[in-house]
Amino acid sequence: MVMVHDLPAPVGAGLYNVYTGVQVDAADGSVVPTAAQLGLEPPRFCAECGRRMIVQVRPTGWWAKCSRHGQVDSLDLDTRR
Ligand SMILES: [Zn+2]
Repeated sequence: MVMVHDLPAPVGAGLYNVYTGVQVDAADGSVVPTAAQLGLEPPRFCAECGRRMIVQVRPTGWWAKCSRHGQVDSLDLDTRR
């Protein structure tokens, strides 16, 4: 079972591996990266459609943009701090 927590679709959809772009079996719950993982390594592919995202890394984090599913900012993943 995929636990999608509150991650935005481009990183939390769980349909594609965000680091390899490979379509994954939805039964494999390990495909959804944790916020901690994303803090260390920005996603490269949209988790919902597998498109390669535009990724910009900056000293304080990163943003990644899927042309269809929008932009995710690493700051958005840290809102509970
Ligand atoms: Zn997408």
